[in-house]
Amino acid sequence: MQFIDLVTQKDRIRGAVMARLESIVDRAQFIMGPEVAELESKLAAYAGTKHCLSCSSGTDALLIALMAKGIGPGDAVLTTPFTFVATAEVVSLTGATPVFVDIDPDTFNIDPALLEKGVLEARARGLEPKALIPVDLFGLAADYTRLEAEALRLGLWILEDACQGFGGAQGGKKAGSFGLVGATSFFPAKPLGCWGDGGAIFTDNDELAALMVSVRVHGGGVDKYSNVRIGLNGRLDSMQAAVLLEKLEIFDEELMLRDRVAKAYSSSLGGRLKVPVVPDGYRSAWAQYSVLARDSSDREKLMGALQKEGIPSVIYYKIPLHLQEAYGDLGYKAGDFPVTEDMASRVFSLPMHPYLKEEEIEQVCSVLLA
Ligand SMILES: *Cc1c(COP(=O)(O)O)cnc(C)c1O
Repeated sequence: MQFIDLVTQKDRIRGAVMARLESIVDRAQFIMGPEVAELESKLAAYAGTKHCLSCSSGTDALLIALMAKGIGPGDAVLTTPFTFVATAEVVSLTGATPVFVDIDPDTFNIDPALLEKGVLEARARGLEPKALIPVDLFGLAADYTRLEAEALRLGLWILEDACQGFGGAQGGKKAGSFGLVGATSFFPAKPLGCWGDGGAIFTDNDELAALMVSVRVHGGGVDKYSNVRIGLNGRLDSMQAAVLLEKLEIFDEELMLRDRVAKAYSSSLGGRLKVPVVPDGYRSAWAQYSVLARDSSDREKLMGALQKEGIPSVIYYKIPLHLQEAYGDLGYKAGDFPVTEDMASRVFSLPMHPYLKEEEIEQVCSVLLA
């Protein structure tokens, strides 16, 4: 059994993608070909934002947004410690300091009630709180209704990390479109992935969009050899755009197929494990289907039983960011974020992809329920 099956999907779209790739090879227009602009306009329409900029990865998408907003040394950016390292890493890359805020135990997402505490902690450390990066963890959008109200009150702007959330929605608004700016990733294992690295940035703000276009390619001004600010090489190439154009065609269908898998898991497993909560009005992109065991030895037992049957399962995330060696100099210690630490000790993720068969779902459930 595959944890994520990229082969079935590839076989489905192979002919159409190869035709597009051949046309790029024939034209030899590898960078900024017409596929890139076509993809950006389709993604903006999909997310419901005025602008979409494709870029080289989810990490660069987040970084470009922070750089364009001038985040740097002395600034604090609030975020969750229960995420992939890139969310906080980009803050450090700008010279600013990540300040962690604990999560909600039902959704694994940053807890809006704790933002004010984060702001006070940042100030106590001599930092100026500027921005907030909520993460749409495992595919479920964070609570933007409350986050946007709190951020406004506390004077923070929001960068949505939709690297796992793209395809999800809350109240008819798509993931990627929340806050001032949203970032997503097209790493192959994400719900919408390319055949390499890629990402995208979304905003309704014209001025910020123009700044991000400049930062994306070496801080260019009127052309790329007049450099008006520090930027990076953050483009998406034509071939990845071509792959994404074909994958976008089947994306909504794949999201429905993922939802079918999640519903089947939840109805079987709900009595034995804590299954994911999808609050009313939300639609998850199901980047991961993550459950909670009773404690870490229960998790070890269940993951061992799955492994014995050849069923892969993975722990996202075993070490929260505030306890990672790379963040040792921030001075956090075990016990600082009790909800995150509890989740990290019990969470694990089951095989999740659109092409998981009924028999496979039943097999996973029967091993876990044995
Ligand atoms: C994958 C991911 C990223 C980084 O995306 P890349 O395309 O791998 O650079 C950032 N944040 C979160 C939450 C992610 O899951």
